[in-house]
Amino acid sequence: MSQTDKAAELQMVANEIARDNVCPELAAGAKQLVFASGDPDSPIVFIGEAPGAKEDETGQPFVGAAGKFFDEMLAGIGMARSEIYITNIVKYRPPGNRDPLPEEIQAFMPYLKRQLDIIKPKLVVFLGRHSMNVFLPELKISQVHGQPKRKDGHVYLPLFHPAAALYNGDMRSTLISDFNKIPKILELIDR
Ligand code: URA
Repeated sequence: MSQTDKAAELQMVANEIARDNVCPELAAGAKQLVFASGDPDSPIVFIGEAPGAKEDETGQPFVGAAGKFFDEMLAGIGMARSEIYITNIVKYRPPGNRDPLPEEIQAFMPYLKRQLDIIKPKLVVFLGRHSMNVFLPELKISQVHGQPKRKDGHVYLPLFHPAAALYNGDMRSTLISDFNKIPKILELIDR
């Protein structure tokens, strides 16, 4: 599929979330849907948890404090936002930034899976345990962060969540060194 076709198909998925009335309570409390941003043809997809206040205001994922840290890490591996695709499991801001509920995560899963089916990335990077546990429920982020996992024809890389690592020195340096493995992992997938 061409980049333009992928973008059109992804737009249809975004429209369906509104049309299907997914998580009406979350939708009612949020300003807008935060679907995704970036290149639908990217070899890497990053999956976070759910939008926060800044994301809810702008309609773009990862634009607050965690997003700035994310951008720094991305620059560290020589990449820009325009070269990657980034989304969240839950696409409306949960009230007061609470963790997404299991039923909210489940409700958004079919749409997230469609995003991945359309993009067909080489590597899916989980930002935090919520996102990892949707795909790899048996794993603990503290034990597997930074280690690529193959499952069902996908390559997954679990990382700590940038918001959790932002103000925690040890976790922050671990996240940065895990993040720096991304280019090498991409290279290995090609072989
Ligand atoms: N945290 C997330 O998980 N997603 C965002 O979009 C912003 C912060």
